[in-house]
Amino acid sequence: MRYGNQTLRAIDERYRRARTLAKAKVEKLNALLNDDENYVKAYNAVNSAKFEIAKAKFNGDETSLLKANEALEKGNEQLDAVIKSHGISPKDLIPDYNCKICEDTGFNGDKRCKCFNKIASEVVTEELGISKKSLPDFEHADYINTPDEKVYLKMRQFADKAGEVNKFVTLLGKVGSGKTYLAGCIANQFEKMGKIVVFISSYELQSVFARTSSLYDLEREGYLSALTECDLLVIDDLGSEMTFKNVSFTCLYTILSARSDKNLPLIVTTNLSVDEIYDFYGERISSRLFTKGKSLAIEINGRDFRRKR
Ligand SMILES: [Zn+2]
Repeated sequence: MRYGNQTLRAIDERYRRARTLAKAKVEKLNALLNDDENYVKAYNAVNSAKFEIAKAKFNGDETSLLKANEALEKGNEQLDAVIKSHGISPKDLIPDYNCKICEDTGFNGDKRCKCFNKIASEVVTEELGISKKSLPDFEHADYINTPDEKVYLKMRQFADKAGEVNKFVTLLGKVGSGKTYLAGCIANQFEKMGKIVVFISSYELQSVFARTSSLYDLEREGYLSALTECDLLVIDDLGSEMTFKNVSFTCLYTILSARSDKNLPLIVTTNLSVDEIYDFYGERISSRLFTKGKSLAIEINGRDFRRKR
């Protein structure tokens, strides 16, 4: 997904904070060691031995090289002894970064590190002011021999093609039928494949929309960009809010159109029937949700395992 400037700045700030935290611990220990004159002495001895080694190598002076190597070894031993005398282990002096690959810079060479999407996802969720959900997993979903086995298999295939699929999927079913659970499994699979997912309840969506009412068009666009640009958007329990204001209808339509234009997938779960969705959200929004060839409407029977055959 593309990120707005504000989001990118927040992501950078998150990395900067992580680096500062990892380094601060090491700096504190270094300050302690630098107060010990034995440490400073050994430290300087190591550095000057390193310099002598480089010089001897440059001059091709074997005798000096041997001597300097001995001095380096001795210096390192002294350094280790002083560090140990403070109860510090050498690994305490290496910053303990959250990500060992990029050392909390977000970059692996000139590419984004694989930790980037996780950080970005956290930032996006925070910016929207919604909670980050812990998502279930297809691996632990017990759907075999249930009435919804076919649906699960179909949706698992859909999720396995994260990054290629662009359909709008509406999961219809009664309360407790496991729509949210299935949507969660799909979202989780997308995340596992390094995609940015926003999983938002209809209720949360409504408060996000309400916050945009005081914004100018451009600001609103930026604010909603996390919803229009993320790799997968899940709107959970559409219809449960039932108090949509005008601004909400406009926002919802904006998001659906943008995602449709950009060929980005959407998952909606709802207790409402297709007819009820048309009645409440109107033709404009509903026709986006149920465009022939670009959308799927799937009925969930319910994960009643007692009905196992
Ligand atoms: Zn990383």
